[in-house]
Amino acid sequence: FSSSCTVYGEPDEVPVTEDSPIGAVNPYGWTKLHGEQVLEAVAAAGGLDVMLLRYFNPIGAHESGLIGEDPNGIPNNLLPYMLQVAVGRRKHLNVYGADYPTPDGTGVRDYIHVVDLAKGHLKALERLDLVHGVSTWNLGTGRGYSVRQMITAFEEVIGRPLPHVFKARRPGDIAQCWSDPSKARDDLGWEAERDLLAMLTDAWRWQSRNPQGYAEDAAATAQPAANTETALAS
Ligand code: UDP
Repeated sequence: FSSSCTVYGEPDEVPVTEDSPIGAVNPYGWTKLHGEQVLEAVAAAGGLDVMLLRYFNPIGAHESGLIGEDPNGIPNNLLPYMLQVAVGRRKHLNVYGADYPTPDGTGVRDYIHVVDLAKGHLKALERLDLVHGVSTWNLGTGRGYSVRQMITAFEEVIGRPLPHVFKARRPGDIAQCWSDPSKARDDLGWEAERDLLAMLTDAWRWQSRNPQGYAEDAAATAQPAANTETALAS
């Protein structure tokens, strides 16, 4: 099950282990928590063996630049929003909160490259033998980065400043969360390998080549079909 670190709510202690207390602090968190609970109930009834993979903050894109994230509407998540600012689709990033109890006041998250996350699934599938009932693994890097650190790192990747303004905290956001990923390492033989620079570079390759996301591809592939029709008609 694609679960999320959001089930840890606002953690009292970081890093969080699979045994840290759970509890939702926003609607998205409730969807994941309820999903886990339903599956736990099914497993307890003897219906299924379940792997709960708790993703931290997946970002990045495939290194080819061909597969990336293309959110509908206004992006909710940090990096997709930053990417759209960088290609000129949005004026500036809103930084939600600079008064959190974190080293620089902005929210801290454990960002993980999507390809590492995908590989975590493959490793988990290789170890179905481990699961009798419910097993849970954190899929994260074990490192936290603040919003300010994300902006600075991203500016280095794009080679120019990223316009941003500081705003009030966003309701439902937490101050900080990052993983203790050692259980996945020990049980599944999996560790995230790609660093923040790779995450940001790969994401930027995708977005800069596809500023409008998949919409451009759709327009491009629709073109030959239209031409063919015209050619046939004439
Ligand atoms: N964030 C921000 N501006 C945005 C989106 C997110 O400042 O437009 C901050 C948010 O407050 C949090 C961090 O970036 O501290 C990561 O937010 P995201 O929504 O990507 O992940 P989540 O909060 O679900 O972990």
